[in-house]
Amino acid sequence: MDRPRFVIDSAEVEQMAKQSRQTVLHLLPSLVKSAQALARPPISNYHVGAVGVGSSGRIFFGVNLEFPGLPLNHSVHAEQFLITNLSLNAEPCLKFLAVSAAPCGHCRQFLQELRAAPDVNILITATEKEKENKTINNRNDKDMQFAPLSYFLPHRFGPDDLLEKDVPLLLEPHRNGLSFCSDTRNGEINGDGDDSKYAALEAANASHAPYSGCPSGVALVDVEGKIYKGSYMESAAYNPSLPPVQAALVAYVASGGGGGYERIVTAVLVEKADAVIKQEHTAKLLLQCISPKCEFKVVHCNKNMLKCEYQV
Ligand SMILES: [Zn+2]
Repeated sequence: MDRPRFVIDSAEVEQMAKQSRQTVLHLLPSLVKSAQALARPPISNYHVGAVGVGSSGRIFFGVNLEFPGLPLNHSVHAEQFLITNLSLNAEPCLKFLAVSAAPCGHCRQFLQELRAAPDVNILITATEKEKENKTINNRNDKDMQFAPLSYFLPHRFGPDDLLEKDVPLLLEPHRNGLSFCSDTRNGEINGDGDDSKYAALEAANASHAPYSGCPSGVALVDVEGKIYKGSYMESAAYNPSLPPVQAALVAYVASGGGGGYERIVTAVLVEKADAVIKQEHTAKLLLQCISPKCEFKVVHCNKNMLKCEYQV
């Protein structure tokens, strides 16, 4: 791989498996070290890599992100990155997941937002020996065993406890019904020709926020004008929820070619004016820390109506 890649299409996956004379399932753990190398953990220096395969046959990477100067709860875990990566690429279902270290409780809970969560199969590639000797040797892949998420988190608390059965879950299509009151690209909202506001609106409309009813989305723009969207994703247990800036940073890392965060020059947040869950202050805090010159804008809207409070 010449350039960091976070998605491998299904045809290439098949080809890789064929060339290495492995099944796709055996391919997953063999890619975990490549994923770990893409992690950005400047605080812990503990690189976590998660590699998953979806129902489309595509392979997705996830890595951990940490942000010095901010509270640790701004961090993105590798499994959350992975799920966000699936969401960004409209992958409807995660089937198997190989991860470099045991998923923490936070991630076991976050994964509950998937429709078939208990059936997601997980393999941990770190062995006890590796933990003790900090030496990574060639391992016998034949010993590797996947176990369902229900093994890692029995007695689950999740969407089934709080939502009706027909409410869309994470990775399922969401249509939150947010729109600009003057919905024209030449109207007052978009007078400066900035597509980032519409990208943030799209992200807000795809947001998974069934518990608070407060969807939100962020669009980041880099120095080259490329836009990266991120949708807020809630957890039934609240705390493991992933804010929209973090989701957009996943998009930036996954498709931005590995550049630094200071290349992000504009950020737009769309959220409801009367939201009980507000992203504005924490989003601003994070962006000011990782890219101090980034211009931060907020568009407050209500369902099917925009109040046009536009701040810088
Ligand atoms: Zn975790």
